[in-house]
Amino acid sequence: MKPEVKPPKKPLIFYYVIVLAIVLLINMLIVPYMGRDQTYELSYSAFLDALDKGYVKQAELTDSSITFVMEIGDSRVTCVTGRVEDPSLVTRMQQAGVEFKKNLPTQISPILEFLLTWIMPIVIFVVLGQFLMRQMSKNMGGGAMSFGKSNAKVYVAAQTGKTFADVAGEDEAKAALKEIVDFLHDPNKYKEIGARLPKGALLVGPPGTGKTLLAQAVAGEAGVPFFSISGSEFVEMFVGMGAARVRDLFKQAQEKAPCIVFIDEIDAIGKKRDAANGLGGNDEREQTLNQLLTEMDGFDGSKGVVILAATNRPESLDNALLRPGRFDRRVPVELPDLAGREAILRVHAKDVKMSDEVNFRAIALATSGTSGAELANIINEGALLAVKEGRNRVEQRDLEEAIETVLAGYQRKGAVISPEEKKIVSYHEIGHALVAARQKASAPVHKITIIPRTSGALGYTMQVDEDEHYLMTREELLNKITTLTAGRAAEELIFHQITSGAANDIEQATKLARTMVTRLGMSDDFGMTALSVVNNMYLGGDTSLACSEQTAARIDEAVMGIIRDAHAKATEILRGDMDKLHELAAFLLERETITGEEFMAILNSPALPAPKEEPEDASAAGDEE
Ligand code: ADP
Ligand code: MG
Ligand code: ZN
Repeated sequence: MKPEVKPPKKPLIFYYVIVLAIVLLINMLIVPYMGRDQTYELSYSAFLDALDKGYVKQAELTDSSITFVMEIGDSRVTCVTGRVEDPSLVTRMQQAGVEFKKNLPTQISPILEFLLTWIMPIVIFVVLGQFLMRQMSKNMGGGAMSFGKSNAKVYVAAQTGKTFADVAGEDEAKAALKEIVDFLHDPNKYKEIGARLPKGALLVGPPGTGKTLLAQAVAGEAGVPFFSISGSEFVEMFVGMGAARVRDLFKQAQEKAPCIVFIDEIDAIGKKRDAANGLGGNDEREQTLNQLLTEMDGFDGSKGVVILAATNRPESLDNALLRPGRFDRRVPVELPDLAGREAILRVHAKDVKMSDEVNFRAIALATSGTSGAELANIINEGALLAVKEGRNRVEQRDLEEAIETVLAGYQRKGAVISPEEKKIVSYHEIGHALVAARQKASAPVHKITIIPRTSGALGYTMQVDEDEHYLMTREELLNKITTLTAGRAAEELIFHQITSGAANDIEQATKLARTMVTRLGMSDDFGMTALSVVNNMYLGGDTSLACSEQTAARIDEAVMGIIRDAHAKATEILRGDMDKLHELAAFLLERETITGEEFMAILNSPALPAPKEEPEDASAAGDEE
């Protein structure tokens, strides 16, 4: 959906039309000569018969056939018959008064014949071949025939149609890029004072945070040519292509200076060159990277060529790329904060009919950790929901539902879940919510639902903070882990059995506990030691341990200890609150979705006489872990 400005590419249909035209032309020119009236084939005896009866008026002889015209009464037909060895034929025809002739063999000059039979097919093949080649190389973006030609597209100002106004939040990134735009508008201002702008700026951040969008906005604002190419486009079929295209790209850029070169997804070519890969590994990519480095060193930045690049895997980039004089400026494009999310929602809501009641801040609060792309998606899903329900304005509840759609998938309305399983899910979710509510440093419950989602979740509890946090205390983290274990704890207390429903909780709790131990210095044993490194901070952020095997074993123990304690605490809290657990689970089972307010109202109301279906023997299961 990139608003790229390509040379108007002729659609395939255009070529079909040409071929069709040629076919028609041939038919129009040739068919008249062939297209005589319908000819009937008769036997020779029938011909002789017709001859005798005087029907035959004209005849044309060849060595093998006789084509003749018969007139019977008013009708006139053309017939053909095979030629039989018949010496009397001429005499008979003369007797019958037939006008007859034998055509000379068609006079094609030998040269023409040679042309037709030998040259024509070759010409056709060559033309067709060239056409196919061109098509192919167009598809490959470069390709065999355009060896050494880059297909970087030239963008001209405003043609991307994006400006900084389209990018919400990300103020620091915008400020950094505005400086570059300003430089391109008026390089002298900078030259006078002796300031040198960085040659390149690298936009780094998680997917969907608007890196590509920002680059397009720069193009829109700059009013200078904007060359854009994606790293993956460099990965070519033929050895040497990538390097050649880099060379060509920079050549073009220098001719058009001042201008901007944007390399999206630069990690595709800029990955670390390591010794292990050197032998026959990815030579092609390395050559491309080397060429890029050479070109970046080679050109004069003061001419006004600025190189932007974007990636979501900065840690995988070759250090040489990040050296001063190359991409020495790093522009972080992080996930938006609360204000940023609200701003992004508003930008995308601009073109959508929104009810006046819509509270963007509430939506922004509930979408902590989402990217700009997801927020844009939420607005769109909300609009789709409104249409589906036949309304012409988007309401708050549409957006609320859209959040869940985007984050947890669509409702699986058709899913048939047995009453028994529904009950288990209800207790599981209330377990989470109840433990969250009973701990002080824990985000308030916003919504609980047991409507299954296409993501596979059978239900979930949504907690929304009242405000945005940048720091989390140890207590908050531990409480979070406790809340995560509470679903399973509730299942144990009530049903004395455990289900697979806690898989995701377990995964999250473990990850959190591991982070506390290995990266946040929040364990008693290890203190402030970094024991793991993050491999790709913007893509899932999985880590690998950086410690000895013995330490690794102790880390595992520490992690297990944290989770075990959390689970025990959750069980404790629930056991002390059995009445509310039953009451709330029954309420949730009946309603399927309840809001945080409904939840709190019941939690804070005087206890009902508890339904005595599952009495005290919970302790047996509760302590097993
Ligand atoms: P990235 O390149 O960082 O992966 P994109 O620039 O492709 O992300 O963003 C995808 C889409 O998400 C954009 O087209 C835009 O609709 C939306 N988006 C992302 N960030 C923002 C933002 N800060 N302001 C407005 N829209 C945004
Ligand atoms: Mg992108
Ligand atoms: Zn759970």
